[in-house]
Amino acid sequence: MTTPKLFIVIPCYNEQEALPITAQRLVELTDDMIEKALISPESRIVLVDDGSRDDTWRVISDLHAQDPRFEGVKLAHNAGHMNALWAGMTMSADRCDCVITIDADLQDDVNAMYAFLEEYRNGADVVYGVRGSRKKDTFFKRATAQGFYKMMNAMGAELVYNHADYRLLSRRALEALLSFGEVNMFLRGMVPMLGFRTAKVYYERGARVAGESKYPLRKMLAFAMEGITSLSNKPIRFVLVLGVLCALMGVTMGVYVLVSLFKGHTVRGWASTMMSIWLLGGLQLIALGVIGEYIGKIYMETKRRPKFILEEHLR
Ligand code: UDP
Ligand code: MG
Repeated sequence: MTTPKLFIVIPCYNEQEALPITAQRLVELTDDMIEKALISPESRIVLVDDGSRDDTWRVISDLHAQDPRFEGVKLAHNAGHMNALWAGMTMSADRCDCVITIDADLQDDVNAMYAFLEEYRNGADVVYGVRGSRKKDTFFKRATAQGFYKMMNAMGAELVYNHADYRLLSRRALEALLSFGEVNMFLRGMVPMLGFRTAKVYYERGARVAGESKYPLRKMLAFAMEGITSLSNKPIRFVLVLGVLCALMGVTMGVYVLVSLFKGHTVRGWASTMMSIWLLGGLQLIALGVIGEYIGKIYMETKRRPKFILEEHLR
């Protein structure tokens, strides 16, 4: 295998404090990798400015002017972390052999990239960076994150535990991912759908090098909601199940009501009212659930996901 062209894609939202430090570290890292012939000198670092309101873009332009290794991509407005990653990957796909995505704050250990490349050389198309522990995260972040993974798995979305968006994708895995047609996307749930040979690399997660988290609780909740609704139809099915339970309850109530009626200790009108409430409530929920099932199907159809992903074709 020739030395691969590696593209490192970094989403940056108001990262003027972190970027200079991050850039310096990445220069050292890629210098070393090029020297050790692990990556080609044609490798690039793609900085995606996700509509920052601070001086992020000026920092990026300066970096690009000084060192052609840095490329800048500027999004016209704040499109969000996932879309910024998507933009960077789209811009890289036709020129790279493999791509690594990492956050601008370097909370994820850059040295793990050596292990990523090693796995890639050994034939992995997808390499997941997995956090060994979250000692440096705040208690709140740790607790919410863990709850999130548990809930997602309960919802039936296949996620790699403690893996965020620090990963390597080979060119073909990247192209397969980019062929997904959905607009609402949750990358870390989509990558496991690709298949291909995968590997995991464990590393310790540190604190931000500078600046503060760009994920306030509001964005975290929106993110979790996106994760659930973009990967799973289970909430819809839940309505259906609830409806069936209600209807069953209605039948039980029916028996109870009739028994009470014949024993004679009921007020006039009570029996009919009670039966209608439960039965109609149940029927309405069932109807909603059935409609929901079809809406769920429509939803999945509108994503226009590829029906298959080709790994090899011998002919
Ligand atoms: N980010 C982005 N757009 C946003 C929010 C965040 O591109 O709207 C980037 C941010 O610059 C960083 C990465 O996404 O590179 C992760 O954000 P952050 O480190 O603040 O999240 P945390 O580690 O606190 O979950
Ligand atoms: Mg961070």
